[in-house]
Amino acid sequence: MAAFQTLNRDELLKIKDELEKEYEKIKGLGIKLDMSRGKPGKDQLDLSMGMVDALASDHSFVGEQGIDCRNYGVLDGIVEAKRLLSEMIECPIDNIIIYGNSSLNVMYDTVARSMTHGVMGSTPWCKLDKVKFLCPVPGYDRHFAITEFFGIEMINIPMNEDGPDMNMVEKLVSEDDSIKGIWCIPKYGNPTGITYSDAVVKRFARLKPAAKDFRIYWDNAYTIHHLYDEEDKQDHLIEILAECEKAGNPDMVFKFCSTSKVTFPGSGIAAISASKANLEFIKKQLTVQTIGHDKLNQLRHYRFFGNFDGMKEHMKKHAALLRPKFAAVLTTLDRELKDADIASWTNPVGGYFISLNVHNGCAKDVVQMCKDAGLVLTNAGATYPYGKDPYDSNIRIAPSFPTPEELKDAAHVLCVCVKLATVNKMLTGEK
Ligand code: PMP
Repeated sequence: MAAFQTLNRDELLKIKDELEKEYEKIKGLGIKLDMSRGKPGKDQLDLSMGMVDALASDHSFVGEQGIDCRNYGVLDGIVEAKRLLSEMIECPIDNIIIYGNSSLNVMYDTVARSMTHGVMGSTPWCKLDKVKFLCPVPGYDRHFAITEFFGIEMINIPMNEDGPDMNMVEKLVSEDDSIKGIWCIPKYGNPTGITYSDAVVKRFARLKPAAKDFRIYWDNAYTIHHLYDEEDKQDHLIEILAECEKAGNPDMVFKFCSTSKVTFPGSGIAAISASKANLEFIKKQLTVQTIGHDKLNQLRHYRFFGNFDGMKEHMKKHAALLRPKFAAVLTTLDRELKDADIASWTNPVGGYFISLNVHNGCAKDVVQMCKDAGLVLTNAGATYPYGKDPYDSNIRIAPSFPTPEELKDAAHVLCVCVKLATVNKMLTGEK
């Protein structure tokens, strides 16, 4: 198939006719497929079944510190969990607090606390006329939902291949003291799969924000979620907490992580890592909020993995299950869309997503057409603040949940819809 841009009207009409026939055929098949959310597949969940037995088989609930994990106490997490997650997120063991089952919950809390109580002594944001966040786009809809919920104004920051546009970030944060934060997914980003380069991380650490209570919200959700075992096929990310300290900005970052996509989503353990000064401030709230999080869950995570090496081995098993799923989608996109030259997509080496950019003005149509044919995708626009993609171009593909066979079918449906929506747009004169 030739590049669509090189075709004349008659040729486009012919292709449209063929695509419409194929689309009608697909619609008649009664397909039910879902590539909308980054949920691990059942086979991935089965990998962690040993964790369910990790406490049952050994009726000792007393951890290394002599604490009975069945009882109240320990605000910031048992030492075994701290050791495991601090290695996972690459921070000193004294720079971490273990939370409950969700890092998104920790991020929400972090913003909520800043609204009501400020950040380490600053004016609570709710008392300010304006609070703004920078949002690298495309990004994670649930980040944007948190800031939108609190009435925080969101500013789009374009993503380059090595991370956010740092010229824009530096300029905005140094000039505007109502900018209090930036959402970042620095490794295998959702949805781009991009990992920030060394230069980008260093520029983050050296920011000179006008607001003293500006923080980088460093959501390291996919820190060890490589798709390949070989180190040369893995992305490396510089550790930002140490970089900020070196740059004289020790308090400027909050790092978040969880084991949601290591063990069980919704039943993992989450953590925040930051400077000791930040953590002390956070603990003043935490001590009012809870007597302690689920220590049995922390203990069983530790018993199941033994140590961080155990966790890394476990991630290789996830990768082995995910690789064919990514391959099923990427091969189909290559085969069916490449020559038409009407879309671009990422080819990530880690994380959970493929980011697809279709012809401007076509993403909503593609998602709707897929839906009508039985394939659910993440809503068009979801990867942008307020659900508004200014180009109506980005679609997030989540290949983790269906089987590779289903993914081949789903990707074919997607490709037919991308081509049909594009031809339609071209024929209506909006080339
Ligand atoms: N951050 C990012 C970037 C994610 O993609 C996800 C899950 N899709 C989360 C956070 C949610 O993490 P948790 O389950 O720990 O709340």
